[in-house]
Amino acid sequence: MKETLGFQAEVKQLLQLMIHSLYSNKEIFLRELVSNASDACDRLRFEAIGQPELLSGGADFAIRLEVDKDARRITISDNGIGMSRDEAVAHLGTIAKSGTREFFAALTGDQKKDAQLIGQFGVGFYSAFIVAERVSVVTRRAGLAENQATRWESDGSGEYTIEPATRESRGTDVTLHLKAGEEAFASAGRLRTILRKYSDHISTPIRMKKEIWDKDKQAYITTAEDETVNQATALWARPKAEITDEQYREFYKHVAHDFTDPLAWTHNRVEGKQEYIQLLYLPSQAPFDLWDRNARHGLKLYVRRVFIMDDAEQLLPRYLRFVRGVIDSGDLPLNVSREILQESRDVAAIREGAARRILGLLEDLAENRKDDYAKFWDAFGQVLKEGIGEDASNKERLAKLLRFSSTGTDAQTSLADYASRFKEGQKALYYVTADSPDAARNSPHLEIFRKKGIEVLLLVDRVDEWMLSFLTEFDKRPLVSVAKGDLDLGDLADAAEKETREKVAGEFKDLVERVKSALGDAVSDVRVTLRLTDSPACVVVESDEMSQHLQRLLKGAGQKAPESKPILELNPHHPLVERLKAQSDDGLKEWAHLLLDQATLAEGGQLADPATFVKRMNRMLSHT
Ligand code: ADP
Ligand code: MG
Repeated sequence: MKETLGFQAEVKQLLQLMIHSLYSNKEIFLRELVSNASDACDRLRFEAIGQPELLSGGADFAIRLEVDKDARRITISDNGIGMSRDEAVAHLGTIAKSGTREFFAALTGDQKKDAQLIGQFGVGFYSAFIVAERVSVVTRRAGLAENQATRWESDGSGEYTIEPATRESRGTDVTLHLKAGEEAFASAGRLRTILRKYSDHISTPIRMKKEIWDKDKQAYITTAEDETVNQATALWARPKAEITDEQYREFYKHVAHDFTDPLAWTHNRVEGKQEYIQLLYLPSQAPFDLWDRNARHGLKLYVRRVFIMDDAEQLLPRYLRFVRGVIDSGDLPLNVSREILQESRDVAAIREGAARRILGLLEDLAENRKDDYAKFWDAFGQVLKEGIGEDASNKERLAKLLRFSSTGTDAQTSLADYASRFKEGQKALYYVTADSPDAARNSPHLEIFRKKGIEVLLLVDRVDEWMLSFLTEFDKRPLVSVAKGDLDLGDLADAAEKETREKVAGEFKDLVERVKSALGDAVSDVRVTLRLTDSPACVVVESDEMSQHLQRLLKGAGQKAPESKPILELNPHHPLVERLKAQSDDGLKEWAHLLLDQATLAEGGQLADPATFVKRMNRMLSHT
């Protein structure tokens, strides 16, 4: 019985977008369909390890391309795993992919921008509709009988039909009925050229009927003989010197299901105790699901050229989850499962090897391809930072790869570059944490540093504070928060300042005591500071306590955070603070609370009771 079903709403939208935006890049439909055919063969090869009877139709895998010029038709066939009816409905009628929600939320309605996004999202099977007015798929799942095949058909406008069919053997035929105007694709020569360009790396043989030049007819004619049009060997197993950059790039698009070129790659064969080949890529853009906890990640695992699984996450540490590629092990058993991977010591060694390799690649970019490294950092820097906490053995190498905004330069800086700009007498790397670059730049804590021309790193990523709890020094020099503890600039403070410091502390002793009792348990301490030049007051925490910023982040994330009371620091040179001295106890209380609330706001904090703050402020304004 033939049924008509509607595409999931997102599929309709994707189809619309794709047909309009990938116009100049039509030929990629062939790459996508061949990539799927090759995946289907890989999947069956793997399933057959445990169920050899699935190969009863033959173990010779191949992808076949047929062209009918007159009928304006192309068929891509494979003898891979095929699909059952339900699988066809699920895979060819919906988008079951993490990041889908993020992708649709990111669409702007501007065709140019959206075309870029679509490339990033990946187009896959639906790209057939760029050139076809109708696509029909006949597919039979390995293990099912001849009459249990399925025919799926659609014109790409919103619905598709599905009905039972017969197919002589397992596998899938995807037939494209080309749109008027796209008949140029119904040419064996044209298809062969496209395949060489995009699909040469496919390890399953791609076969076409051989053509020969007929002198009399002055045209190519098709013969009955087959020829294989790709190299049909695993790309990663070929010698590096024989692989072109173009082939590396196209292979990346196949393994990563990505549409854009990779940023960089590293390919090598490891020999010795462990034998394996690694071909690892850095994508040039972050995928839509980078922050999705359930996103698939990991590498493709092969054992002696046999595909074992996609997304083997055990092959990479979590903080490198953006890396894509292939590991081909010479040692693991073919029947290796995810559970075994979890515990295997061989796998741990492969994972560590992959991490070292990627760090080496990143160091090379940072040193020799600075623009590319900046691109990488923009896309994945926040993820890499997780490594500081996760991977103690590579902490030093990772610390050198970090980049931060800073008051000392417009570009992002490494810690080493910052250290090279140290002021005379400077012994620590200073940083301020805040929710945004503006909040960081305007933080009152920076005043003294600005006055003295000391550079301060501006840390505005959510992971920064957490990361810094693991990174307390760089190159034997401490990393110091400008908002923590009693700021001691050490040798950076000049003699006059040191003197003032003591004198001032004495002079303000009384005032400090009065403010402290006026504020009660709203603060843990009150003291005078020389870190301020323009602001009357600021709040800080003890050096061993969690910063106010991190407390806010944790609370925002619904986690428990220790509630530490801030320390209020007063600027002894500020006229407002001067005026405090002359206040009665009641007046002083009003002023003290106002200064504390202001300081909390300036630091990016929220007031527990904003209404009282506003009332108090208005009261005081109408007094003057
Ligand atoms: P992706 O390849 O990234 O998963 P596609 O849109 O290219 O996305 O394909 C969607 C799904 O359809 C595949 O994951 C697969 O399950 C199924 N599929 C597509 N083509 C074939 C095929 N030739 N044989 C078996 N399954 C296929
Ligand atoms: Mg695909």
